[in-house]
Amino acid sequence: MDRNKKKILILGGGFGGLFTALELAGAGDVTLVDENDHFLFKPMLYEYLSGEVEAWHIAPNFSELLDDVKLVRGTVTSIDLDQRSVTIEGRAAPLTSDALVLALGATTNYWGVEGAEQFSLPFRTIADANHLRRRLTEALDRVQPDAAPQDTRAALTFAVVGGGASGVELATKMADLLRDAVKRRALRGEPRVIIIEMTDRLVPGMGDEIREYVERELAEQRIEIHTLTRVARVGPNVLTLEHNGRESDIEVAGVVWVAGVRMNPLIENLKVEKDKRGLIIVDPTLQVRNHPNVFTLGDIASYPDVPPTLAGTAQLALQQAHLCARNVRASLTGDELKTKHFVELGEALSLGTEHAAVLSAGKVMAGPLARQARFAMYTARLPTWHHRLKVGASWFFEGTQPRPLQPLGF
Ligand SMILES: Cc1cc2nc3c(=O)[nH]c(=O)nc-3n(C[C@H](O)[C@H](O)[C@H](O)COP(=O)(O)OP(=O)(O)OC[C@H]3O[C@@H](n4cnc5c(N)ncnc54)[C@H](O)[C@@H]3O)c2cc1C
Repeated sequence: MDRNKKKILILGGGFGGLFTALELAGAGDVTLVDENDHFLFKPMLYEYLSGEVEAWHIAPNFSELLDDVKLVRGTVTSIDLDQRSVTIEGRAAPLTSDALVLALGATTNYWGVEGAEQFSLPFRTIADANHLRRRLTEALDRVQPDAAPQDTRAALTFAVVGGGASGVELATKMADLLRDAVKRRALRGEPRVIIIEMTDRLVPGMGDEIREYVERELAEQRIEIHTLTRVARVGPNVLTLEHNGRESDIEVAGVVWVAGVRMNPLIENLKVEKDKRGLIIVDPTLQVRNHPNVFTLGDIASYPDVPPTLAGTAQLALQQAHLCARNVRASLTGDELKTKHFVELGEALSLGTEHAAVLSAGKVMAGPLARQARFAMYTARLPTWHHRLKVGASWFFEGTQPRPLQPLGF
């Protein structure tokens, strides 16, 4: 090891951390720490659930993506900003650095709702998607071949809490998967998928043009929508809703919780300036205030002048990664640090296994063609040319058809 090389330590290998590491590879003694051994392209986790894509497409191992970067797999347990040192679970010696990058992302927010964390499923990781797919299959396996339509519907009732983009994408995939399985198993009746949303509309952060397509698709899929509705409690197989001051129970085979995010607990404990949501306030150079050699980006950073619809998105973290890498280099060489205005790159929503809606340059495209456009758009945003080529070729030659829900043990 070259002892003169500056040590750059990057915490978190998601959109912010991985893309910063890719640009800084070779610029010093660069180390990336993550509790997983793989990156995850979260916008396509829905396609992983439905089997349209495989794990290796959207969750490649860090070792396949990074050269000239040391990988440390482990959970960060504490961060000392003054010393720029970090402790990792199970490692006696802390990791130290000349420049520290924080990109630890957010986590599911259950808002303190009784039973929510215990009885609902989160949807943020490959393991979460596997768990949900298994839950869908188990529910199907319980339906008797001669079940009456209303019994099929009761056994296949799933609720998605949160009517943002995540809730809509998830509900439409689940409905398509379940309906396809009901048909393949020649069952009578159909599944019931419900979206619960606290505000008065779905996809509240998105424009009216795209909402129109979303609502049409949800109506066609017969997805039940409960707006202005709050989840009061979640039980083992029951969801208690409150609407207009009145409570009602729905029996469910599963609840998926995508109703917002909260700060990574490690960040909650850091003594730095934060905004009212608990995000670390960064300078326009991505430096943490009073810590010039500490940089923060992605879901944990509050950056000045970011449009509300761009905050908390992969497209923001990606754009910030370029600035972050550039400024880390500059801070170590004594060059001038830059600032940047981040822009919206368009919106894309999958709507079931056959359709999508894409908003680009103010125009909405919807339907099967938009699904292809979304795949193409996301291929271009996967990390590294090599990985993009491999995945692009796989999607082109092998196709992206959903994988039916097979009986367990099949
Ligand atoms: C299902 C889903 C779909 C989404 N779809 C879209 C979309 O379509 N478009 C869009 O723009 N955005 C989307 N987002 C949001 C987007 O994924 C995030 O905004 C983006 O990932 C933020 O990047 P980040 O680097 O801040 O955090 P992340 O990408 O979440 O990365 C954080 C990393 O830190 C690691 N980590 C966390 N804590 C620790 C610890 N203590 N020790 C070690 N490692 C740790 C994690 O393992 C992870 O790899 C979606 C999010 C989800 C969950």
